[in-house]
Amino acid sequence: MVLANKSLFKDRALIGGEWVSAVSGVDYDILNPATGERIASVPDMGKVEAELAIKNAKDAGKEWKRKTAKQRANIIRRWYDLIVENKEDLAYLITLEQGKPLAESRAEVDYGAAYVEWFAEEAKRINGDVIPGPAEDRRVVVVKQPIGVVAAITPWNFPVAMITRKVAPALAAGCTIVVKPAEDTPLVALAVAELALQAGITPGVFNVITAARGHEVGEVLTTHRDVRKVSFTGSTQVGRILLRQSADTIKKVSLELGGNAPFIVFDDADIDAAVSGAIACKFRNGGQACISANRIFVQTGIYDTFAEKLCAEVEKLKVGSGCTPGVLIGPMINEKAVGKVQEHVSDARKKGARILLGGERHPLGGNFYAPTVIADVTASMVINEEETFGPVAPLIRFESEAEVLERANDTEYGLASYFFTRDHSKAWRVAEALETGMVGINTGLISNEMAPFGGIKQSGLGREGSLYGIEDYLEIKYMCVGGI
Ligand code: NAP
Repeated sequence: MVLANKSLFKDRALIGGEWVSAVSGVDYDILNPATGERIASVPDMGKVEAELAIKNAKDAGKEWKRKTAKQRANIIRRWYDLIVENKEDLAYLITLEQGKPLAESRAEVDYGAAYVEWFAEEAKRINGDVIPGPAEDRRVVVVKQPIGVVAAITPWNFPVAMITRKVAPALAAGCTIVVKPAEDTPLVALAVAELALQAGITPGVFNVITAARGHEVGEVLTTHRDVRKVSFTGSTQVGRILLRQSADTIKKVSLELGGNAPFIVFDDADIDAAVSGAIACKFRNGGQACISANRIFVQTGIYDTFAEKLCAEVEKLKVGSGCTPGVLIGPMINEKAVGKVQEHVSDARKKGARILLGGERHPLGGNFYAPTVIADVTASMVINEEETFGPVAPLIRFESEAEVLERANDTEYGLASYFFTRDHSKAWRVAEALETGMVGINTGLISNEMAPFGGIKQSGLGREGSLYGIEDYLEIKYMCVGGI
């Protein structure tokens, strides 16, 4: 592994500012999804280490929350500067363990860093209120205080950004945090934590536990009485488990879960813009994004033209190792993920869908899947119901606005949606009717640190980023001041 800044290669977990092994001494291997080769081994931690990390976070919180907002902001800002300075190394680590093309990894570092910069600024804007009192001699004062120890559990698909979106607001609010990154992608999480230490974040404020037994660590993080908040990004299925586990100790819970995003192209759309939007939001990260278009609805008048133009663009997507120049689609994260895509495609084929492009594993073998476009997808196919999480664009024909809204909303998920039209009135109607937390109108790119990211229905609770994002890490306290 060639890193310009050697200090960023960490293969131990971080507890209380110390790089440590599992109590058992057992490690597990991290594999490169493009080659199957071992990159490193990290500690396989469990209950004991999770409890130790919580204790360290609790102890460190006493000092961290006493710092002024400006002191915390300055440290978080230094962390941002270091992330940007080390962008190339961090991007390389992402590609190595997660597989996405290097250009996308660089974009992820920028995107993840933007949350750190944003919340360094927001730290200084945690304002309270003075409310008119109920009597002449009383005043009502509202202050916001850090919630306490936070536990974060994150997925592998955006291994930097999904961490910074949680850690930065938590630290800005005055909380401390224990992070459990995904089993497959701990190395870049550890590198980002090392940069936080270099920036001057007090030991114990930011802890990272690595584990191949996510459920064991997760159980401690969601049931321990000293953890006051759980922030999870991952599948809806695991989100349900964590929400249930958090119930007994009444924790505040934020959930960023799965999606089944509709992407709607109306007859009056700019077709070329819609095709570019579909490429950006379907094939970025090989379709392994929660806000990926999962169902592409195309109105009947332009269906064939859109399909043809989309296939022409998808054909250009070069598949290969993320480190190879010009590659736009890397490997999928693991064999299980490829298996899921195969199942979805073969179910659609069996039920009458037409494969316009791809539809099988890529000739490179291993975890590579060929970019795929499928036409004539119907409501009875699994691909219409479940998140595919792969480079597969399913096209569904529709006739009217009312029909497509009914079908787009007919899902338990409500994360993101997209549509393309040139009709101003329709744009308002459709945007208001779509049951999702985020709507892209004539664009396939909706995520940035200034906007509230999050879903409704079974796609989650709470918002990340934006001026709303810090609220999830704060408690409101009201003081009634009498005798005036
Ligand atoms: P996942 O299987 O739910 O895993 C997410 C995290 O939870 C990982 O760290 C995983 O650890 C851990 N985990 C799994 N089972 C657990 C349990 N029983 N107790 C505690 N922790 C547990 O999801 P994924 O496959 O990594 O990520 C893909 C999913 O994330 C998709 O559904 C995607 O839509 C969603 N996602 C949502 C957003 C959003 O912002 N809404 C963003 C990105 C991804 P291991 O790695 O050890 O299994």
